[in-house]
Amino acid sequence: MLTLTRTALRRSFALLVLLSLCVAPVALAQPQGPTATPMPPDPFVVTQTTALLPATVGDLAGAKAWDRYTIIAALSPGERRVRGTVTVTVTNRASRPYERLYFHLYPNHPDFGGRLDVTGARLDGQPVVSGTEQGDTLIWLALPRPLPPGGTVRAELSFVARTPRNGSADTFGAFNQEAGLWSLANFYPILARYFADTGWDRRPIDSQGDFVVSSTALYEVTIDAPTDWTLISTGARVSATAVTDSVRRERFVSGPQREFYLGATQGRAQVSTTVDGTRIVSHYQTNHATAGRKALRVAEQALRVFNARYGTYPLAELDVVESALTNFFGMEYPGVVLIEQTLYAANASDFEVTVAHEIAHQWWYSQVGNDAQGEAWLDEGFASYSQVLYYEGIAAPALATDELNFFREEFSASRRRGRDAPLATPPSGLDGMYVPVVYDKGALFFHSLRAQIGEAAFSRFLKGYYSEGRYRDVAGPDLLRAAETACACQLTQLYRDWVLTKAPVRIP
Ligand SMILES: [Zn+2]
Repeated sequence: MLTLTRTALRRSFALLVLLSLCVAPVALAQPQGPTATPMPPDPFVVTQTTALLPATVGDLAGAKAWDRYTIIAALSPGERRVRGTVTVTVTNRASRPYERLYFHLYPNHPDFGGRLDVTGARLDGQPVVSGTEQGDTLIWLALPRPLPPGGTVRAELSFVARTPRNGSADTFGAFNQEAGLWSLANFYPILARYFADTGWDRRPIDSQGDFVVSSTALYEVTIDAPTDWTLISTGARVSATAVTDSVRRERFVSGPQREFYLGATQGRAQVSTTVDGTRIVSHYQTNHATAGRKALRVAEQALRVFNARYGTYPLAELDVVESALTNFFGMEYPGVVLIEQTLYAANASDFEVTVAHEIAHQWWYSQVGNDAQGEAWLDEGFASYSQVLYYEGIAAPALATDELNFFREEFSASRRRGRDAPLATPPSGLDGMYVPVVYDKGALFFHSLRAQIGEAAFSRFLKGYYSEGRYRDVAGPDLLRAAETACACQLTQLYRDWVLTKAPVRIP
């Protein structure tokens, strides 16, 4: 996310073609031996190739590490209602048996101003005992018998979601129907993360931080929608067929992703381009054509810079969507970024950094995942520092310095008021200093790291941290290890001062 505080200071491929491209890498993942019979390709996994670049379909060899979601839903924009079922094939990858499964029902958080009601739940086809916690933002399903490590169960939940209309002034604008966009972020139950030490993530949600904490999964999603609405989603469309004269059925696959974003637009315009094999689409209001084209240009530059600096964005598509967010500038979802409409209208200077920041989250959140409710600096600090790397990458060093100065000034001002904290502080412990600590101090940590280990090691760190962390859930010590590997040096003092304690760090 990019918050508003800055203002205070100033393709689809033809499936058959891809089947022939992808069978080899997927089949390679199957056990092979002198007596083994090669397993046929898994159709669920094979279909996922549509969402990925041809060069990255081999990533699906790791599909056994990810749970699978199948969502079937129908949109009723007039009633602002989504009705559907989600089936999640859950594998216990922990070292302890599961007694229950937990799913987040994010739209029941008061900030959403809407609802997500589960109307039925089954495990392996059988009705189950269930209950909710944390103000209905969590639902648990009791397993009839403990699910042992390595075991798999199929959870099926029927749901009805309802969003506000024109609610962005008072609620979370990404779950809202306004200005030609019906944005349906988090519209379905999302399996909670299971932490090795503390078990299921049952914490109350602190809405200073980003909501979603989830692990990489594969999604196959079928949506029935009125033909006069255009769908935007994570991943790629694999088919579109007419159900009736007024209803169209579209099927999407996500590739390995942490959540599935869905939006529907009416009366919007779009422009697109292709960068390093990824198709970028900018969706905008028809009276914002100049800014809509600029959003595409910035996204194109950002993708090119970050692909070179971090490693390739593995997906075939990326959408940039003008949105009524009102209380924040931008929000990231896998394969989709939402940008506040007033930035388009004013063509403001914050427009470019917001687009670059949200696109950087495709690496730092979507691909390399972290606990946004625990260590928000890992993705927000990195996405903020990416604003600096973006300007460096497009040969605009003065603007890169402006970004750094902005972080320096905002963090210094906060610290002068006594508002400083270790980067590792969870959002719930950062009242009144979430932005200066997580975004500004977080960005400055990366600059300090760069100064200490030098350009060559910092470049190795960026690539190594991404390739090691891709699709995984990382924590601070993983970042420390990646940096120490890159520099072949010890960084425990730097890490302790910035991340673990409130030492009076020198602002770089
Ligand atoms: Zn952000």
